[in-house]
Amino acid sequence: MHSLCFSLLDGYNCELLSFVSIMTKQKGFTTTLLHADRLRKPEFGALHQPIHTAVTWGFDDVQDLVNVFQNKTKGFAYSRQGNPTTAALESKITMMENGLASVSFSTGMAAIMATVFALVKEGSHIIASSYLFGNTRSILQTFTEIGLDISFVDATSVDNVRDACKPNTCMVLVETIANPATQIADLGAIGDLCEEKGLIYVVDNTMTSPYIFQPVTVKASLVINSLTKYIGGHGNALGGSVTDTGLYNWENYPGIASVLRTQIKPELLGITQIRKRGLRDGGGTLAPEAAHSISVGAETLALRMERSCGNAGALAEYLQGHPLVSKVYYPGLKDHPQHELSKALFRYHGGLMSFALKDDVDVFAFLNRLQVVIKSSNLGDTRTLAIPVAQTIFFELGAERRAEMGIPEGMIRISVGIEDREDLLEDFKQALDSVEYCLL
Ligand SMILES: *Cc1c(COP(=O)(O)O)cnc(C)c1O
Repeated sequence: MHSLCFSLLDGYNCELLSFVSIMTKQKGFTTTLLHADRLRKPEFGALHQPIHTAVTWGFDDVQDLVNVFQNKTKGFAYSRQGNPTTAALESKITMMENGLASVSFSTGMAAIMATVFALVKEGSHIIASSYLFGNTRSILQTFTEIGLDISFVDATSVDNVRDACKPNTCMVLVETIANPATQIADLGAIGDLCEEKGLIYVVDNTMTSPYIFQPVTVKASLVINSLTKYIGGHGNALGGSVTDTGLYNWENYPGIASVLRTQIKPELLGITQIRKRGLRDGGGTLAPEAAHSISVGAETLALRMERSCGNAGALAEYLQGHPLVSKVYYPGLKDHPQHELSKALFRYHGGLMSFALKDDVDVFAFLNRLQVVIKSSNLGDTRTLAIPVAQTIFFELGAERRAEMGIPEGMIRISVGIEDREDLLEDFKQALDSVEYCLL
């Protein structure tokens, strides 16, 4: 898709790039991912890129060090802004997202923080979905306290985004499937609007993952992933990333530092500024050990998503038919408001679902009866995790905001894992049956 060569900071990806463009045409998602590390010819024929723990890099000739600093040659100077292990992961994420270049971070939140911080200037206006991951909502709220103008709109309709546009709007930030109530943003129409108005379109793809959906297909400028979730997939490493899809024209964007304009190819200005100001200056660097865990986890992303989404669909149908359940939130159900959109955009309907029990059922008693399902706050793990929403992840918002966001007090969120389907359904069945028994 992109034939240009990466500049210094992504220079390490250079030799991989021609491979990626060939492989993505000829080979599938998983094949490409599995063989990406070997392309770098690691020592002794190792099948994995090694974990480089060095913080700094030595040069025989000082001119070589200077050249790295001045973006004249590729190389690594100090690991806060990248090392070969994180670079190997970044090129895999770029490949998965069919993008131009990526920067990795210590967490998904660090990636979001860095993206807004690096690109948005004083006096600018941002439009964000009102159905955002709780901590994303919270960090944006904090940004408003230091002077950023942010409008939160219901992004399930592009009309709300259009109505919120101001002359100084520079960025639109949405998620694919919202957590926990699974609203789906009007992704394609918002992409058209951003293109028309020259806005930076940031799509957080965490809930879908690049195996289910590539935001570049709806004209996203930047794609954010929490690598902690589906991409890493095993609940054993935190990480985040930003990918530039190559679609946004950074040359005309006034927020780019002039020092970069003289050194960096125009198409890499945005991602380089995120690496410099967001990662190098912000310091939310991904540890090489975590990058390695995430890289290995990502190898089975497709397999895990197929299984997890299949389990989620079966569980959603089962719960929808249960007399103690008042509502199920899952895009795969025909009565979901964006079911058709989900079918049109996504390979599967996702691995996350929520449901509410009838008012007189004790939510905590039900959760405590689950034996296979773990009561835990993460999502995108191989194991199925359940959490009562109002009392935990959305507790800080208060009852009023929860009501505005369509979150009932008795809502339970399930991140559906890859367990054997019968075991999962049986666990829900026994817990619901025994709760019902208690009521009688
Ligand atoms: C979890 C999550 C994040 C934050 O990622 P961390 O790696 O936990 O910091 C951001 N966006 C979405 C949609 C998430 O689910």
